[in-house]
Amino acid sequence: MAQLVQLGPGLPAGSPLAGPLIDTFGRVHSDLRVSLTDRCNIRCFYCMPETGAEFLPIRGLLSFGQIVRLVSLVLPLGIDKIRLTGGEPLLRPKLPELIAGLSGLRGVRDLALTTNGVLLSSAAGPLFDAGLRRLNIHLDTLDRERFQTITRRDELARVLAGIDRAVDAGFHRIKLNAVAIKGLNEPDIVPLVRFARERNMEVRFIEFMPLDAQHLWALDRVLTADDMIEMLEREFGPLTPVPDADPRAPATEYRFEDGHRVGFIASVSRPFCANCNRLRLTSDGKLRNCLFAREETDIRPLLEQPDSDLALEAAVRSTVWQKWAGHEINRATFVAPQRPMYAIGG
Ligand code: SAM
Ligand code: SF4
Repeated sequence: MAQLVQLGPGLPAGSPLAGPLIDTFGRVHSDLRVSLTDRCNIRCFYCMPETGAEFLPIRGLLSFGQIVRLVSLVLPLGIDKIRLTGGEPLLRPKLPELIAGLSGLRGVRDLALTTNGVLLSSAAGPLFDAGLRRLNIHLDTLDRERFQTITRRDELARVLAGIDRAVDAGFHRIKLNAVAIKGLNEPDIVPLVRFARERNMEVRFIEFMPLDAQHLWALDRVLTADDMIEMLEREFGPLTPVPDADPRAPATEYRFEDGHRVGFIASVSRPFCANCNRLRLTSDGKLRNCLFAREETDIRPLLEQPDSDLALEAAVRSTVWQKWAGHEINRATFVAPQRPMYAIGG
């Protein structure tokens, strides 16, 4: 894969040497998503191939020490929100050690984890005790058969048990991530919101994006935010947009009349690139300035050297600076990135 920058001396022309992490469009970056592994224990069709997924060797993954080092380095540059993801992050042994390392860093305003929930029953308590407070749990359906169709695994019961244990462990305001696919999970939209409302959780519906390993994505398979709002209003009454607390957040939030909320990550029907503040680190140490980026910066060699802080900062600044205006999913010229979602980190 092509590299975005020449590591080593120098930043691209115009890139600031100090101050916040900014790109040429003036977008200030404050959100880092760190993928902990590309492996997963289920096989969602919109992410992974059914069989034959190729994974990094375990020794190819960044160590917890390298991740904590990189995060420590970007906090003074204005990053204050860290999300751990994957692949399935709960597959990383000793994950609470990483949580403890990150939650203890000054400047981490928000530390969150995205998981499919399969292993959450036993992990929730130790993660909470290590300092994690924010959880997004992936749940597309409450129907066992459809869960199997989507994930090619029969794990719904474990996910539901994991959600209960997370509540018992002390997690509040859990968000449920649901990918919405036209012709498949329309029957799940209302039940998922009912499930969340009963538990004081919030569903985030995510429009299907062209990041699947098997290239099954098509525009006519995208169940849009508008489609879902219509379904939900029919069942629960009017939804009102919540004025954005943070206009850079990917989800557009709506409120029911009783105050419960639902969010939509409408990357396809309502792209939000103009406000994007996110940077990604893959589990093998590549920095990406966009989910859909076709180029990336390999910082692993720098993380393997002890005296490379300045070069690392230059690599981060340079990657952010070279971010494009936005993805082009809706244009004929769109080219999907080489890495599917599980190898990037959603
Ligand atoms: N395994 C964890 C999980 O599923 O939550 C974390 C990694 S997963 C890649 C992160 C999020 O990406 C999930 O919430 C999933 O719903 C979403 N996702 C995966 N493939 C997607 C796609 N093609 N379009 C939209 N969202 C997708
Ligand atoms: Fe695994 Fe998450 Fe991808 Fe589903 S979306 S296959 S749970 S990494």
